[in-house]
Amino acid sequence: MRKLTILGATGSIGASTLKVVAENKEQFEVFALAAGRNVAKMRALCETWRPTYAVMATAEAAQALQSELSNSKLATEVLYGEEAMCHVASCAEVDTVMAAIVGAAGLVPTMAAVKAGKRILLANKEALVMSGQLFIDAVERHGAELLPVDSEHNAIFQCLPAQVQTQMGRCDLAGAGVSHIILTGSGGPFRYTDVSELAAVTPAQAIAHPNWSMGPKISVDSATMMNKGLEYIEARWLFNAAKEQLQVLIHPQSVIHSMVQYLDGSVMAQLGEPDMATPISVTMNYPERIQAGVRPLDFTQISELTFMAPDFSRYPCLGLAIDACYLGQHATTSLNAANEIAVDAFLKGHIRFTDIARVNESTLSKVCATNTSLHSYDLESLLELDTMARRQARQIIKERML
Ligand code: NDP
Repeated sequence: MRKLTILGATGSIGASTLKVVAENKEQFEVFALAAGRNVAKMRALCETWRPTYAVMATAEAAQALQSELSNSKLATEVLYGEEAMCHVASCAEVDTVMAAIVGAAGLVPTMAAVKAGKRILLANKEALVMSGQLFIDAVERHGAELLPVDSEHNAIFQCLPAQVQTQMGRCDLAGAGVSHIILTGSGGPFRYTDVSELAAVTPAQAIAHPNWSMGPKISVDSATMMNKGLEYIEARWLFNAAKEQLQVLIHPQSVIHSMVQYLDGSVMAQLGEPDMATPISVTMNYPERIQAGVRPLDFTQISELTFMAPDFSRYPCLGLAIDACYLGQHATTSLNAANEIAVDAFLKGHIRFTDIARVNESTLSKVCATNTSLHSYDLESLLELDTMARRQARQIIKERML
């Protein structure tokens, strides 16, 4: 029986994780659920899953949950705050942690799980983008097991030889005969929209992804292709990939979730329905396969598989992220922070869709003008950098507000 903590339990990945648990109840026990402020959803999850702990981000949310649960006969202990999230991610009773808090808020609890040597199922790509080498070094030092949940990275993971699968963060791709890895992306809802019309895109249009059902932040990131940029940085760290070993390709059908090209010309691809329950189930009981509750891919319904190179004038955020990847940690940490602030401002109607890239670019150039890359960062200095970039981005947004 694997004991599971789910960070980000009330979100889209949280729901898909619990769907896989429901398919395999004899193999998994839900030890702790953690989330932000969605008390109603957490209450329903507690009643279904009866975890030992339920953790909310704030004291108010925890108090509200506690009073909602007081009538039920649950033994669930309600906690709140970052320290409590770190506790449920690292305590001795738990062996597997689903890291699915959205954004930078996931870094500290995920790092706590890493330092406790847990099996980490990593959906929260922002944590790795923010901390890169520090995260990978901690995985190695504390003997944690890192398994990628993001569908592209999970696909690449499945296409790599077994000995490389156990070396996340320190893969020898060339030694394994890999020429390069190909990250595929759908191109989002605006891949065929005239670029001149993008400024008028509404939040509702941006979060309506054509193929995947996801939370609002990653949906907007998919529309700008910042998501693919963050994934590019994530892939660089997860697979220890050099620049010439990474490629991005638009594949509108989202049937192939990513590919690995070998030196001998062979290409290994992973295919499946666009349902996160598949990559989640691959990690949950790795290396054994379990039931994911996902319908099998029906090849007779696939009329075509097409591919094209990304157009950086349509997707400036993708180009920014790839550049930041090679500028250094200060660049990726600040870009991630700026993007979180910009996406939030767009969702609230404060800036236009096309302003997201402008805010990101301005923040990045301001941060890079005053910071140079260091060889090593500690967690505190990365969090300081994150705070400084957020401040910078907010200031830029103030000047651009609609
Ligand atoms: P959602 O917005 O659906 O869910 C986010 C989760 O994070 C919620 O449970 C939310 O809680 C919680 N949360 C937000 N802020 C805090 C906080 N300060 N402290 C604790 N919990 C917090 O996002 P997704 O599930 O879509 O994405 C989660 C992560 O997984 C992201 O990093 C995303 O990039 C990644 N990912 C998602 C995929 C998908 O298909 N959805 C695919 C691949 C990766 P609450 O709602 O209660 O406030």
